[in-house]
Amino acid sequence: MDISTLCIHGADDNTHRTGSVSVPIYQSATFAHPSVGESTGYDYSRVQNPTREQLEKIVARLENGADAIAFSTGMAAITAVIELFRPGDHIISSDDLYGGSHRLFEYISRKNGMSFDFVDTSDLSAVRSKIKPETKAIFVETPTNPMMKVTDLAAISVSAKENNVLLIVDNTFLTPYYLNPIDLGADIVIHSGTKFLAGHNDTLAGFLVANETELSEKLRFIYKTTGACLSPFDSWLVIRGIKTLAIRMEKQQANAMEIANWLSKHPKVKKVHYIGLPTHPAYQISLNQGRGFGSMISFEVDNEQTARQILERVKLILYAESLGGVETLITYPMLQTHADIPEEERIRKGINDRLLRISVGIEDSKDLIMDLQNAFK
Ligand SMILES: *Cc1c(COP(=O)(O)O)cnc(C)c1O
Repeated sequence: MDISTLCIHGADDNTHRTGSVSVPIYQSATFAHPSVGESTGYDYSRVQNPTREQLEKIVARLENGADAIAFSTGMAAITAVIELFRPGDHIISSDDLYGGSHRLFEYISRKNGMSFDFVDTSDLSAVRSKIKPETKAIFVETPTNPMMKVTDLAAISVSAKENNVLLIVDNTFLTPYYLNPIDLGADIVIHSGTKFLAGHNDTLAGFLVANETELSEKLRFIYKTTGACLSPFDSWLVIRGIKTLAIRMEKQQANAMEIANWLSKHPKVKKVHYIGLPTHPAYQISLNQGRGFGSMISFEVDNEQTARQILERVKLILYAESLGGVETLITYPMLQTHADIPEEERIRKGINDRLLRISVGIEDSKDLIMDLQNAFK
């Protein structure tokens, strides 16, 4: 079945017999048992809830995983993944990372005895050189946030398998509509469901998708024990969001392509980082491993004054954190998502006072370009 059909019919809801086209919201904390030692399959909503279960089935199918687990936020999902490891374990991670993941690794996981090497995972030899006996996982974000570096997942998964380490991929930016990391050798896929999957900037959610059941059982044990589960209502919102994932992604990508091209020609724009531009260094890898480029763009303007002016003057485009929704949002990574990264390191990575990031939504592209044009003046 095509992915756009799965987005709408991916649930196999046999929990109700009413013919309801929309998955019902089972707003129940607990479930009564038919008799001693028997269960309907549902006992307590932290462990499983029928609405959430339908959402998890859809996401597992979209990502070609054995199982998907729905969390209250993306960070809750990433925190649960890290619970797989113990003091002394070593993880190699992308160095240009979502700010929250970086904060978790540096300030919480390190305190708990784990160690990290942050490397440019688009450089395979850099990753290989850091693998040591204590290494238990390679954690990749592709494309990275905000510099849009692309990692060759199939190549990196060969190294991961040779060394018996888990390959964990945060697929928030491309979504299963454009990229399926498990098909390329990943063991665990992460999503901030808050972003493209839910798609409307109206709820928070997170996912872990495992490639096989032994791993998913370990993750489910952590999940039911630590308890950051997605509520029935939020599960329903994400199910509804995913129904339009295909058409949103197509429109967002088409808009992003137009905006990236327009930015590339603007005299005050010095660099444009968009993986859909043939000038992107990993354009060929993106073409080979996925089906599209998504709608995340970062760009560098001529000076800080211009960057701040754009943020002050955009009207249609909202100056707000987050990404992936129908509304176009612009952020200043230096002050927002990446504020906790030490200045020297931040600047070395290119996250300077001239860098802005846009998550392109589904508005009309001409209106968006007009808004940017006015903001630059
Ligand atoms: C937003 C985001 C997260 C964290 O997700 P939340 O739902 O905000 O907790 C993790 N990874 C990436 C790439 C993100 O964009």
